[in-house]
Amino acid sequence: MNIVLPARKIPVLTETDVVVCGGGPAGIAAAVGAARHGARVTLLERWPSVGGQATNALVNIWHTSDRVRPVIFGLVQELIERCGEGIWRLPGYPSSPETHEFDPGQMRLAMESLLKDAGVRVLCHLAAGEALVEEGRIRGVLADTKTGRKALLGRVVIDATGDGHIAAGAGLPFDFGRPGDGRVQGMTMMFRLCGLDPAKALACPAEADRVFRLMQELRYKGAFPPFMDYAARSYLRSPRPHTVSYNMCPVAGNPLDEEELTALSMQARRQVADTVALWRREMPGFERAEIEQMGFELGVRESRRVRGLKTLTAEMVIKAVKQPDAIGHGFWMVDIHDPKGSGHTTWADRKADSMPPVGESYHIPLGMCLNARIPNLAVVGRCASATHEGIASCRLQTHCMVMGQGVGTAAALALSADMDMACVDPAALQATLKSDGVYLEDVPAKPVRYRQNLDASLINAKAHSGTRIATGLAPTLPPSTMSRQRM
Ligand SMILES: Cc1cc2nc3c(=O)[nH]c(=O)nc-3n(C[C@H](O)[C@H](O)[C@H](O)COP(=O)(O)OP(=O)(O)OC[C@H]3O[C@@H](n4cnc5c(N)ncnc54)[C@H](O)[C@@H]3O)c2cc1C
Repeated sequence: MNIVLPARKIPVLTETDVVVCGGGPAGIAAAVGAARHGARVTLLERWPSVGGQATNALVNIWHTSDRVRPVIFGLVQELIERCGEGIWRLPGYPSSPETHEFDPGQMRLAMESLLKDAGVRVLCHLAAGEALVEEGRIRGVLADTKTGRKALLGRVVIDATGDGHIAAGAGLPFDFGRPGDGRVQGMTMMFRLCGLDPAKALACPAEADRVFRLMQELRYKGAFPPFMDYAARSYLRSPRPHTVSYNMCPVAGNPLDEEELTALSMQARRQVADTVALWRREMPGFERAEIEQMGFELGVRESRRVRGLKTLTAEMVIKAVKQPDAIGHGFWMVDIHDPKGSGHTTWADRKADSMPPVGESYHIPLGMCLNARIPNLAVVGRCASATHEGIASCRLQTHCMVMGQGVGTAAALALSADMDMACVDPAALQATLKSDGVYLEDVPAKPVRYRQNLDASLINAKAHSGTRIATGLAPTLPPSTMSRQRM
């Protein structure tokens, strides 16, 4: 059944150069990148605070090196510095990638100050809704505010929603899930504990192994929920007070179906409660453990991947492929959490053929954030153009921030030259990024070649249930206009 709304006038809430939809790591970097280069920027975030998974889902780990040298600097490094004592480097580097763990509350403050100092207008409690597309260009988005529906207009719109919400609504084609069954990576409810006695637990390694085996036995009998084995064992064997966000309670399903997502969130919260109850009962040192915090939202690793001018693949990751339109480096492995929710991860296997060689990194290309249909709409973060395997590397927050900073900077350069983002001289963009502290080496001296028209390869995206989510294709859109064009 459909309803038809009568035409009505919508007040304009803001009109800026750039509208960034989504205030996660990618959106923050895009907004700051654009604002620092002279663009007037509005950032919309649906939750009460910015930070995305880093703050609201308690995902508090950042990786920055390729196992030999750090290759991610720029805004990531600035945030590390702003976070002060709220972030610390874990031991292990350089035998494993340089890893920082942070307090999500301190990171939220650091992100807020970064945005404020860059002059970004931040509007939380506002979900970007419908995309306003006119003659092949996006004009802005609609949002339902506390005082009614309003329009937020911009000359460039950057979709950083993680779900490709704006891009899909604007009619861009997208993929969803892995080939075969269309399932996306498993999700996880993160949580934090207090009240542990780590010294007592550390003194009982045999007890840690017993409790871990008990969990496995109960799970086998169907009397305990799924969990990530290697994570559970490590939390029991080497508990730390306060600082850890426990990443071990998986669920699987469709993050684009509100009803399913609600049920999965409830199920995941129950899994956390059951896990902590068993640990309190069985594990020395955990008797007084309390759940200090659960993720405000379920941690989502993958949803739509919006088709771009380039698509990041596993091969590009594993072979550390370099790109002429590089905006930064990525190095993480093809890190897939079982889309059926068993808790198994390819990270646990750590096979050589799922990661770049030691000391090598791949290039994140601008083309994975641009598309062939709407030249003033870019997509950054975990919904950018990649295969199911490619995004399993580039979904890392640090990688999403590299994308965001590159695209935000490209948007500002494009606006100041009155051209589209795909037409910005890559060498000029790369020089600007480098002067802003972005690590960018080994750029091939080759011309950038973009696929100009993806129409022939369009397919309908399907959810794992077999339900058709969307074609991602708005039939009224004119063909791509990737040529130089006035806004
Ligand atoms: C459990 C778990 C563990 C992980 N572990 C790590 C790790 O160890 N290291 C690491 O680097 N990465 C890790 N990741 C991956 C990483 O957290 C995400 O891939 C990353 O946060 C993606 O960044 P993003 O900005 O693209 O999206 P998100 O962080 O999801 O941010 C998107 C933002 O957009 C907002 N939004 C969505 N729709 C709208 C709308 N319509 N209007 C306005 N706002 C909207 C959301 O509220 C959110 O704030 C993990 C992920 C999960 C789930």
